[in-house]
Amino acid sequence: MLQELERLLLVQQHDLEAREIAEKIAALQKRRASLQQAFAREDADFAAQKKQFEELKRRSRERSAEVDDLDTQVRQDEQKLKSGLASYKEMEALRRRIEQNRQRINQLSDEALALLAQVEEEEPKIRAAEAAFHKWKKKIEEELAQIDEEISTQQKALATAHERRAASVAQIDPALLQQYEHLRHRHPNPIALVQNGICSGCHLRVSEIALERLREGAEIVTCENCSRLLYLK
Ligand SMILES: [Zn+2]
Repeated sequence: MLQELERLLLVQQHDLEAREIAEKIAALQKRRASLQQAFAREDADFAAQKKQFEELKRRSRERSAEVDDLDTQVRQDEQKLKSGLASYKEMEALRRRIEQNRQRINQLSDEALALLAQVEEEEPKIRAAEAAFHKWKKKIEEELAQIDEEISTQQKALATAHERRAASVAQIDPALLQQYEHLRHRHPNPIALVQNGICSGCHLRVSEIALERLREGAEIVTCENCSRLLYLK
């Protein structure tokens, strides 16, 4: 094989290696993004669930406090009534208010008890959901950390492949390198081995004339079909 083609083949090896690494990094980044999306979704779902529970607790507390307040009011009014210090008109008003408040307590206490029962029923469920969510979150975080580590390793490998390529490229004739780069837009492997008269790039037969020129080894020979730079082993 021509020495300059041999050097260029080394460039191609680095290019193919870099391409493979870049594909790996892209796949890792895709996996990372999908995990992060799932994470954000689950996080929002759990936050909504928790918010709903907090709202239920708030309503329960409010109702209970309302009942307690009314109860206090009734007791104070009863005390006043017993003391007999109020005028007849005031006593009538107190009795009316006590009656009204008692009715309201009857209405609200059922609701307050129902809410309290609901809170007690929901509490273990939300605790279990929280524990499950944290366990899942930890697993995802671990996987994300692993992915980040792998991405960093691959990025270092990619930088090394680029450095090696730069070193190999320095020895290549600029015109040949240009031809190679031009071909690389179409094929990831612009240099192809000819085996049993077949171009390993396009898998078509190479002409006898081209084969003869290849065997002579005096010049660069290209595939008549795919234009790849050919070599024999
Ligand atoms: Zn070909």
